[in-house]
Amino acid sequence: MHRGGARPGVEMTRALPLALAVLAAPPIARAQAPDPAVTRALMILERDNAWTLEQQIALCEIAAPPFKEAARGADYARRFAALGYHPVTDEIGNVIVTRPGTGGGRRLVLAAHLDTVFPEGTDVRVRHEGRRLAGPGISDDCRGLAVVLAVARAVSLAGVKSAGDIVFVGNVGEEGAGNLRGTRHLFQHGAAGRIDAFISVDGVGLGVVHRAVGSNRYRVTFAGPGGHSYGDFGMPNPMHAMGRAIAAIADISVPAAPRTTFNVGLVSGGTSVNSIAMAATLQMDLRSESATELTRIDSAFRRAVANAVTAEKARWPGSPAGLTAVIDTIGIRPAGSQPDTLWLLRAAQDAARRLGFPPPPGAAGSTDANVPIGLGVPAIAMDGGGRGDGAHALGEWYEDGDRGFLGPQWVLLVSLAAAGR
Ligand SMILES: [Zn+2]
Repeated sequence: MHRGGARPGVEMTRALPLALAVLAAPPIARAQAPDPAVTRALMILERDNAWTLEQQIALCEIAAPPFKEAARGADYARRFAALGYHPVTDEIGNVIVTRPGTGGGRRLVLAAHLDTVFPEGTDVRVRHEGRRLAGPGISDDCRGLAVVLAVARAVSLAGVKSAGDIVFVGNVGEEGAGNLRGTRHLFQHGAAGRIDAFISVDGVGLGVVHRAVGSNRYRVTFAGPGGHSYGDFGMPNPMHAMGRAIAAIADISVPAAPRTTFNVGLVSGGTSVNSIAMAATLQMDLRSESATELTRIDSAFRRAVANAVTAEKARWPGSPAGLTAVIDTIGIRPAGSQPDTLWLLRAAQDAARRLGFPPPPGAAGSTDANVPIGLGVPAIAMDGGGRGDGAHALGEWYEDGDRGFLGPQWVLLVSLAAAGR
């Protein structure tokens, strides 16, 4: 997952002082008498916190590189089966577990992502370093997977009923080139059925994302015949054309709000210092919370590429050599905003009050929730409790602290508010 507007380390280490005991906290204003089954489920999550951490560690020690989530997915399905559920795995590897509701209510998908950013061969063993657990993916998103599993176990053991179905999902393809393909598939191909609301548990802390930072990622290849730097001088040069494009991209104007950004992150090409390159390639991403702004800077980027080719050709009008630029899409994540009054965000804030921690304001992020938000389906991404840092780096760690169980408790209450009781 990726948070907008702040360095990930800052977001992920947000640890809150928590004073009030769970059961002494005031009930949700709108709630009727507390349901004893829900109270039982909350107690189970606190009492069996060690079980949740065991799941987090065990799942994390099964590698799940991009596009190779199958082993972890199979293990995740087995863990649901051991709880008495009937998991199915769809054609792209999403693990789907439906817990039927009693009728009425909303059909909720409660998901966490199986994939990591780490390539095959990465040492994924989890190390205990004092009170910390260290290992690639331990927070992002083994924490989410463990929280979803713990919630499924608690509602089952406590006999909690919901009106709408709750569909637990371990989804593939959240990170990078995965391009949200797991969640996209859920919504496009209906393996999970009609979806009325969506919650992704992604990462650590006690925050919530309700605005989707969209991103468009591209690879642009400038190409020509190439030649000798001295002997063939005087022809359009793909490397120089790329330089012109980057200079123009660097000058694209963006508003401060809604936050909108661009970055050329990778360049490659050429064969030697004394050759006119045959090809030069750049990779870049464009991001915005606003679909309108994203479309606008996307056009500006395409103009920059086209103009660079035109200018480089015009520089050498006598040359018959060709010059082309081809734009390939690496990934598209839809942007979208939901109001701060969104009922699902309010439910998350109410549940935070009930559990005795400050209700988090909704933030902007790039998560699996981008897909439903882009489709107009109410969706949030919730943190899974605890604290941590170093997501997407080999030094990633997680620390449960004294109240790590607040994460699963929070997710449980919000899920029940979403599905209805
Ligand atoms: Zn994540």
